[in-house]
Amino acid sequence: MGAHGPVSSRGCRSVGSPAASEPPRPGVSLTEIHSCDVVETRTRRLELFVADRIPLVDYLVLSDDPRLVAHECEQCAAKFFGRRNACASCGATAFHEVTVPREGTLRTFTIVSAAGPGVPVPYVAAVVDCGGITTRGILVNVDPDPGQVQLGMQVRLTTVSLGADEAGVEAVGYGFEPA
Ligand SMILES: [Zn+2]
Repeated sequence: MGAHGPVSSRGCRSVGSPAASEPPRPGVSLTEIHSCDVVETRTRRLELFVADRIPLVDYLVLSDDPRLVAHECEQCAAKFFGRRNACASCGATAFHEVTVPREGTLRTFTIVSAAGPGVPVPYVAAVVDCGGITTRGILVNVDPDPGQVQLGMQVRLTTVSLGADEAGVEAVGYGFEPA
């Protein structure tokens, strides 16, 4: 894989970003079509390769630097997780994606001691302020004990494995851990 990565990246840039001195042309040469196909094929192979880990929610982006993305209203800057047809604050319909800061402050929490079958308890359900964006998640890597969890403590985003299916595809969720 490693030997193909840089080649693929160069191909993407040359196909998608023509030099500034070259004006856009209505047609493309056979060479360009061929290069594009190769790049697309390699991209699909890469997607298959990384698809052994899938995020539980669409707004969790898995990479070497996992992060949450929110949709920000272009009119009033309200932020939402997941796709919205309209802003709940002002009714506008235009949004753009913003990256949620990984570091945050624990605003409130509850220690859950009863849950459905197969869900280990106790665990800490938390509300975290990440740069002004209210985010919900579980708190991990800390004892689920009121003496160990303090309001205002600094936390950071982390990923949590939720198990794998028989094909080895792992479902990945997110939580927060003490920073
Ligand atoms: Zn709005």
